[in-house]
Amino acid sequence: MTLKQDQSRKLYEQALQYIPGGVNSPVRAFKGVGGNPLFFKGGEGAYLIDSDNNHYVDYVGAWGPLILGHCHDQVIAALSQQLQTGLGYGASTEAEVAIAKRLCELVPSLEKVRLVTSGTEATMSAIRLARGFTGRDLVVKFEGCYHGHVDGLLVKAGSGALTLGEPDSSGVPRAYTELTHVLCYNDSQGVANFFTEYGNKIACLIVEPVAGNMNFVPPAPEFLRTLRQVCNDSGSLLIFDEVMTGFRVALGGAQALYDVIPDLTTLGKVIGGGLPVGAFGGREDIMDCIAPVGSVYQAGTLSGSPLAVAAGLAMLDVISEPGFYDRLTDQTARLLAGLCERAEAAGVPFTTNQAGGMFGCFFSTEQSISHFSQVMQCNMQHFQAYFHHMLNNGVYLAPSAYEAGFVSSAHGEAEIKLTLDAAESAFVAIASSQSTHP
Ligand SMILES: *Cc1c(COP(=O)(O)O)cnc(C)c1O
Repeated sequence: MTLKQDQSRKLYEQALQYIPGGVNSPVRAFKGVGGNPLFFKGGEGAYLIDSDNNHYVDYVGAWGPLILGHCHDQVIAALSQQLQTGLGYGASTEAEVAIAKRLCELVPSLEKVRLVTSGTEATMSAIRLARGFTGRDLVVKFEGCYHGHVDGLLVKAGSGALTLGEPDSSGVPRAYTELTHVLCYNDSQGVANFFTEYGNKIACLIVEPVAGNMNFVPPAPEFLRTLRQVCNDSGSLLIFDEVMTGFRVALGGAQALYDVIPDLTTLGKVIGGGLPVGAFGGREDIMDCIAPVGSVYQAGTLSGSPLAVAAGLAMLDVISEPGFYDRLTDQTARLLAGLCERAEAAGVPFTTNQAGGMFGCFFSTEQSISHFSQVMQCNMQHFQAYFHHMLNNGVYLAPSAYEAGFVSSAHGEAEIKLTLDAAESAFVAIASSQSTHP
C-alpha cells in the first residue's frame, strides 16, 4: 500500500521556496530516511492527520511534549480560558508562581526554578549560571547527548547533527568549543580519570540522565552515581538536562527514577503541554546567583507566557493522577514486547530500550544497547525500510534512526494493535529483502 501524499508534496515544494530546506527545524526533514517530509493539519489523541487527510498513530508527540496526546480536553479547556483573559503582560502572574511551586514539589532537585521559552535557553542559562557560581570555565558533556543549539554545546551533539552527517556546526568559533570537553556516555572510569586531572577547572558536567538524542540509551547502573561523586569531589556542578526525560520517564524525571540528585536541572518539552517553554532550576544558593538577585544575567520577553503556563499546569494535574506513569510504562512495554516478538518471528535482528513512556528501537544483533558506538553500528537500511513501511501503513515515527520514540496516554489497545500489525509486515518485508541480498 502506498498512501496518497500529493498535498504534502505540493506544500513541500512551496516551503522549499521560502524556508531553508522547507523546514523550521532540521530534524523535521526526511534527510535520514529519504523522501519528502509530511505536512500536518491536525492531531487527535494518538493520531496525526496530514494535509492529504491520512491518519497516523503518532510516536513523535511533537518530539516529546504531547504525553497526553493531541488536544487533550483539560489542556484545551485551560488554554481557552487563558485566551479570554490575556496572552501576556510582561509582568508577574499568580499562575507562574503556581507552576514554579508544583515543579519544585515534583522534581527532587528543584528548590527554585526560572521559566524560559525553550530547552536551548534553559541549558544555555544553566551553563552560564554554573560558570558564574563556580568561577570556572570548563564544561563537560557526553558524545551523542544533545543540549539544544547552544554554541558551546554543539560538539558531538547527537540526533539532528548525526542525521545530517555534520557532527559539529560551522559558525561556532573554536574558542567557544575549546572550553567544552566531550567524554563517553556510560564510561564511568573515563569520567573519573578526567576529573582526577581537571576537576578543579570544571564548572559543570551536563548530561541527559537517560540519553534520548542518540536513539535511546539508558544510564548504566553506576554511571549517574559516579557523576554525582566526581562533582562532589571537585566542586563542579552536576546538571541533568531533563528537557526530554522530565515528566516523561517518571513524574519526578530521571532523577526520581534513578535517585541521583543533580545541582541544576533543565526542563522543557512536557512541562509546556505542547506550547513553547523551558525551565531551569535547582539549589537555592545557586539559583540566587541569577539577576536580579545575583550577578549572572538572564532574561526573556515571553518567559512565563500565561498560555504556556496554563497548558503546563493543566497537564501537570493530569499526569499527577495516581497510576498515570504505571499505565504509560505498561503500555509502552506492551508495544515493545510486541515489536520484539514480531521481529524475532521474522528473523530480523532487533532490540529495544525503554524508560517510562520513552523508548528506542535498534536494528542490531546486540542483546542490549548501552553505548553510542553500538547505536552507530545499527543497520541503517533496515531502519529506512521499516520507517517507510510503517509510514505507509499509518504509523508516524521520527524520520531518523537517532531519535527516541514517545508513547502518550492516548495510545490505547487499538493503536498498539495497528502499530504491531504494520510492524509485522515490515519485518517480513525486511527479512525477505535480506534473503535476496545476502
Ligand atoms: C529537545 C532538547 C533540548 C532543546 O530544547 P529546544 O526546546 O528544542 O530548544 C535540549 N536538551 C534535550 C535533552 C533535548 O531533548
